[in-house]
Amino acid sequence: MQDEKWMREALILAKQASDAGEVPVGCVVVCGDEIVGRGCNNRENGKNALHHAEVLAIDEACRNLGGWRLWHCTLYVTLEPCPMCAGAILNARIPRVVYGAADKKAGACGTNLNLMQTPNYPHPTVERGVLEAECTALLQAFFQNMRADPKPRIDWKARRREKLAELAARQNEGKNV
Ligand SMILES: [Zn+2]
Repeated sequence: MQDEKWMREALILAKQASDAGEVPVGCVVVCGDEIVGRGCNNRENGKNALHHAEVLAIDEACRNLGGWRLWHCTLYVTLEPCPMCAGAILNARIPRVVYGAADKKAGACGTNLNLMQTPNYPHPTVERGVLEAECTALLQAFFQNMRADPKPRIDWKARRREKLAELAARQNEGKNV
């Protein structure tokens, strides 16, 4: 089945995320018989809240296809898209979304909320549960490992103070030019 074939590609990316210490989520955007965008969750290493697999895959697809309208594409992702990614899917006009595991907490394609039925936007079709067992197993293994071997806690307050001081210094430098 085509959907399973592409979901396997998304699973390879999810595995890469996991190997890099990220929550394993992978995504591919497919146009015709070609992958035009790939992404894996990179929030921790990229230190960026926007670095979800879907956003990165859509970004690459827009660059590869030379435009923001991904009308003829299907997006495959191992975990149900969150509200941000569902918004990106709507804005990119992607007509079809296929996901593996449902996300009870953040799923915005019908589980927690359904942005795929947003009034005044196109309503993408959604296929759920493709290779669900594999997608779920990868997530479960990641969280089990994390519980068994917790990462050192980051002092977010200290990091924020440091970054704000750096920013203030850069801005002051700018004023002196
Ligand atoms: Zn997301």
